[in-house]
Amino acid sequence: MNFTITPDLIYRRTEAAETPVDMLVIAAHPDDAELSSGGVIAQMASEGKRVAIVECTQGEMGSRGTPAIRRAEAAEAARILNLTERWNLHIPDGAIDSSPENVAKVIAAMRYFRPNILLFPPAFERHHDHENAHRLVRAAYFQSGLSKIEIEAFGQKLPTYRPKRLFTYMQTYEFEPNFYVDVSAHFETKLQSYYAHASQVFVPGAVQNQNEPQTLISSPEFLEYLKARARHFGGKIGVQYAEGFTSVEPLGFGSMSDLL
Ligand SMILES: [Zn+2]
Repeated sequence: MNFTITPDLIYRRTEAAETPVDMLVIAAHPDDAELSSGGVIAQMASEGKRVAIVECTQGEMGSRGTPAIRRAEAAEAARILNLTERWNLHIPDGAIDSSPENVAKVIAAMRYFRPNILLFPPAFERHHDHENAHRLVRAAYFQSGLSKIEIEAFGQKLPTYRPKRLFTYMQTYEFEPNFYVDVSAHFETKLQSYYAHASQVFVPGAVQNQNEPQTLISSPEFLEYLKARARHFGGKIGVQYAEGFTSVEPLGFGSMSDLL
């Protein structure tokens, strides 16, 4: 299979855009990674780790904004989060499926970025694109390790690869996470990356576009909810703000000392 990463798919590539990255976040829509995992993304980037986001669709079916506006917003959020790269796979919004072409695109991302940690949507979600992106990533994860599946990108055959850790982040529906990460020191950066998606979300102090329809995430109440959930999760582990994740595979440690 051949998949060409053309320049129009790349929203951001910095001089630090080396691979492997430490963490790759795959999302269905342009603002999903920020909403669900902006804290750990900002945290890892601040520690000098390489983090990339790959989103499946341009969000063209969204009630608000346009693909051009959303692309500019995603690029700005990538700058705020200090991502090394951000791609968009141009899969049709509202119609994500695990077609061979889409699986090849996600395999290309996995084999190119070679992340230790892969964050992606949960299997049970309000938006069908989120559930379908979960299945697409699972299919690509497995096939990415098969040597008989050959993928070329940037004119090179990419070697097989499976990320070490598969973690799902939380979107609309809540679940009991396996573990929580303290993102208190990076919560403000997460919010700034969230506000970068101004066509989609409520930004305190900004003039609201009254011509656009209201959505679940465009209200001030949703922002309060987002903060309250992070605060609630933080309270569970004795910190201010936390994000929760679940490991698809059992989490094992080489030694109890790893947890010291
Ligand atoms: Zn979404």
